[in-house]
Amino acid sequence: MGQLRKAMRYADIIIDISHERLDRSFQYRIPEALEASIRIGSVVAVPFGNGTRTRQGFVVGLSDEPKLPEEKLRDIVSVNEKKVPVESQLIELAGWMRHHYGGTLTQSLSTVLPVKKKVQRRKEQAKKPERAESAKAAPPLNPAQQHAVDAFRGDYEKGIRKTYLLFGVTGSGKTRVYLEMIEGVLATGKSVIVLIPEIALTRQNIERFSARFGDMVAVLHSRLSDGERYEVYERAKRGDIRIVLGPRSALFVPFSSVGLIVVDEEHETSYKSEQVPKYHAREVALQRAKMAGAAVVLGSATPSVDSLLCVKKGEYQLLSMPERVESRPLPVTTIVDMRTELKEGNRSMISSLLREKIADRLQRQEQVLLFLNRRGMAGFFSCRSCGHVIKCPHCDVSLHQHRDGILRCHYCGHKEVQPKTCPKCGSKYIGGFRAGTQSVENLLQKLYPQVRILRMDADSTKHKGDHDRILSQFAAHEADILLGTQMIVKGHDFAGVTLVGVLAADLSLHGGDYTGSERTFDLLVQAGGRAGRGERRGEVVVQTYQPQHYAITAAANADVNGFAERELAFRELLRYPPVAHILLVQIFSGAAEEGQAAAQEIHAAVAAKKGKRLSVAKPTEAMIAKMKDRFRFAVYVKAAEYDALVEVKDEIEALTKEEPFAGRFSHTRIFFDFDPLGMF
Ligand code: ADP
Ligand code: ZN
Ligand code: ZN
Repeated sequence: MGQLRKAMRYADIIIDISHERLDRSFQYRIPEALEASIRIGSVVAVPFGNGTRTRQGFVVGLSDEPKLPEEKLRDIVSVNEKKVPVESQLIELAGWMRHHYGGTLTQSLSTVLPVKKKVQRRKEQAKKPERAESAKAAPPLNPAQQHAVDAFRGDYEKGIRKTYLLFGVTGSGKTRVYLEMIEGVLATGKSVIVLIPEIALTRQNIERFSARFGDMVAVLHSRLSDGERYEVYERAKRGDIRIVLGPRSALFVPFSSVGLIVVDEEHETSYKSEQVPKYHAREVALQRAKMAGAAVVLGSATPSVDSLLCVKKGEYQLLSMPERVESRPLPVTTIVDMRTELKEGNRSMISSLLREKIADRLQRQEQVLLFLNRRGMAGFFSCRSCGHVIKCPHCDVSLHQHRDGILRCHYCGHKEVQPKTCPKCGSKYIGGFRAGTQSVENLLQKLYPQVRILRMDADSTKHKGDHDRILSQFAAHEADILLGTQMIVKGHDFAGVTLVGVLAADLSLHGGDYTGSERTFDLLVQAGGRAGRGERRGEVVVQTYQPQHYAITAAANADVNGFAERELAFRELLRYPPVAHILLVQIFSGAAEEGQAAAQEIHAAVAAKKGKRLSVAKPTEAMIAKMKDRFRFAVYVKAAEYDALVEVKDEIEALTKEEPFAGRFSHTRIFFDFDPLGMF
């Protein structure tokens, strides 16, 4: 496999992209005269069928090998470089995604291009939000907001397109800033994409955009049918819609001329797609903006360390809003050391301080949010007396407890037998950390017999509408306490809440992957952001067995920069993203031995690439070692350069498609995940 760029003499072309058959491409020869002007996404004229007539097609792939005997291939007639339809841009983007994240081109194309579906026109009139009269009464921008808007508009008017990081504390009025920026962009005739995490797609959020821009705004979300989605796309293409608001797939709306892409809550992990291609919407937003000549605004109260590193390197411009609007104070945070609680005989999930504070709020008829930050399947092993967590000596992530009494690292496969007493302090209170919302609810009922509790977790939100119902009941003060998992933390605005309790900060700290500290920091600061959004000042109580951990102390002071400095030093030391990059090769197999052998072969192939500044860990069982009767194995590869990993991916793809691999491992499938988040 030579890495030199050979001349690409053949092009795969799709004739009709409005169909569901995105996998039907035809190969044509590229005449030498056209070589320089053809790339993925190009619109070309090709002979098709028997007649002399040519048809329009889109180039979706390039290669240096013919799929048919030369004499059966026909030449591309011409390239249309003048009238470039939006599909051409999107196909180019799909080509980039396929290169950057792996998978097949068809998978990338069907992620990016809308599939035409017959639309059942809805009889009921879509409610046109009135362009609100309340808009004229909007309070003037405060100086920090004005500064952010001016900086953006100044650049934009001069034709300068940058990536901005709008770092504004919770309640600093970021949405208002987006609205002003968007208005400036719309005035130049361009369109705008606003990405928000699915969980933040609240009515409140949508109304603020509709109130300002009326029916120029459309919302895309996962509950739309294919037909409804397609209709939004058609209206966007015609220019009837100029702003699209939605989770990551809204990125692919066919606006022919995008001026701005906003990524709100840019730190959210839900921007990473779990399906092939496993893309990160923030990265794809930057790429689409680059191709379209658009600006990007990333907004957050807890920016990702990735974005903060880009600010440090001068790649993004920082716009900061360090205060809440109308100088409302940020909440006060108290850290409770749960080791002390244990010493004092309280073995429950609620500390004595939190008990007192809850009782106080109930008496004053204020509301409380209690938050159990469960992530995935926590099974880390720790000591309740001293807080010690058993970690992998090679990877500095927590080991996971398995049924067989073995603790295991899922990055490198390190194993050890679980200890009976704490290796640090000798205590017998050592074990797998577990906690559930149900048992906390029972405890609360016992402590406060009159209390009205709403519980929001995977169990209580199984049915459509459960989520909204619980939130609106709580907003209407039909309950005193809302107890839930991270779904209650994001984006909600409850004026009655003056106390937020985080029951076990440790749960997200030791999820077993390298992002545990960052996730904990985000969750704690964002949880604090839910307190005291009304008139009264808010308070936060954080319970933990590791009160000294920098993620927790920094969160208590909402010290984003201090946290980022420590966290980036840790990532640097162990070569984790964003300082370096990780490629996770996911191996799925119907037979355990076959999967294991395939993983070993892949590992050997990567390990043989000496001198490429790569490191590859020996194959491991995935954290979920078997799912739906398929055995799962992982090979982790690290490199300083992302492109080195793209090369590894390409070579593994080639290796596994060819014989003898393909034949020997016919029950095995391979997927790629770049800079994976969470556990596999
Ligand atoms: P963030 O997204 O930064 O947490 P929001 O955009 O939700 O903050 O704004 C918080 C609240 O402040 C909202 O109710 C919003 O209407 C209000 N707000 C925004 N800008 C101003 C302003 N300049 N003066 C007064 N209130 C404002
Ligand atoms: Zn101990
Ligand atoms: Zn390890």
